Amino acid sequence: MTTVGVLALQGAFIEHEQKLQQLGVKTVQVRLPHHLTEIDALIIPGGESTTIGKLATSYELIEPLKHFAQTKPTWGTCAGMIFLASRLEQHHQPILGVMDITVDRNAFGRQVDSFETDLAISGLDEPFHAVFIRAPIATAVGEKVEVLAQLSPTQIVIAREGHLLASAFHPELTDDARLHQYFLDMLSD
Ligand code: GLN
Repeated sequence: MTTVGVLALQGAFIEHEQKLQQLGVKTVQVRLPHHLTEIDALIIPGGESTTIGKLATSYELIEPLKHFAQTKPTWGTCAGMIFLASRLEQHHQPILGVMDITVDRNAFGRQVDSFETDLAISGLDEPFHAVFIRAPIATAVGEKVEVLAQLSPTQIVIAREGHLLASAFHPELTDDARLHQYFLDMLSD
């Protein structure tokens, strides 16, 4: 049986677990390095990336998470997208630096820090209702990164690089489980 870990230091990890359980997958809350040995794939949830980074540093999780994400399916949503990135536009904070994307935190500014929109995502037949909460965006991606949806050429909101997936919005907060299914399908690609 497939077991998917959800990084459970801070943020919306319970909602991701519920979605995965609906899809018939066993979940593990990842808080310590040894939890990574029990899982086939990992989700890094939304929340506050600086807090997730600080807690991951104190729990000595940065290196183990980096090793895991270098080879196993890993999906970062929102703060998780920031955490996966190789480059951040202005901030200096602990990140894993495993995915070839440049990310701008809080990219939509205060006036529209939260909004919802229907996104056409490549690989999904129908639009996906995406909830953005003080969301980041990827402003640039490397050659091997496939852009799955963008609001403009420098506003990339979901992208894939092989076994890595990053989305700027919160797919765990809507009823739609198609992106969680997409991620599970990556385990057999
Ligand atoms: N603004 C948060 C950060 O910079 C991310 C917000 C989210 O995960 N919803 O970490």
